[in-house]
Amino acid sequence: MSFQNELYLQKLKSAGYSDTVPRSAVYDTIRKSEHEPMTMAELVRQTTTFGDRASIYRSVKLLEKIGVIKRVSFGWKYRLELGDDFHGHHHHLTCTKCHKTEALSDDAELEKGLHRLAARNRFTMQDHQLDIRGICEDCKLG
Ligand SMILES: [Zn+2]
Ligand SMILES: [Zn+2]
Ligand SMILES: [Zn+2]
Repeated sequence: MSFQNELYLQKLKSAGYSDTVPRSAVYDTIRKSEHEPMTMAELVRQTTTFGDRASIYRSVKLLEKIGVIKRVSFGWKYRLELGDDFHGHHHHLTCTKCHKTEALSDDAELEKGLHRLAARNRFTMQDHQLDIRGICEDCKLG
């Protein structure tokens, strides 16, 4: 079993839940999408054979609560991807023309800078998200 699947089962178990068909469908669909975080509509569309809309929504809510998935902000909207424990903390670049999303590799300097910035305001940072929007290379050329 992969490290991610083991972590998924372990997170459910330690929170006192079991694996169910809609839960594993939500987890698996988001996992396969990798660094293209999904909208709720896309997720519902791809999981309809595993449960009705209400049970998919409930599964998303639960998996978010126990840290299997998280919301990533894109402007005023959000998308879903696996939690930081599954693939490490990172940020995304989103093209405003073709809407392609790319994961940025972890940058220690950037993270340190953000912590310093928060500390300067006597603030202890627990989490943050960066929403970097612009034009990708393909769109610039085309
Ligand atoms: Zn990502
Ligand atoms: Zn683009
Ligand atoms: Zn960061």
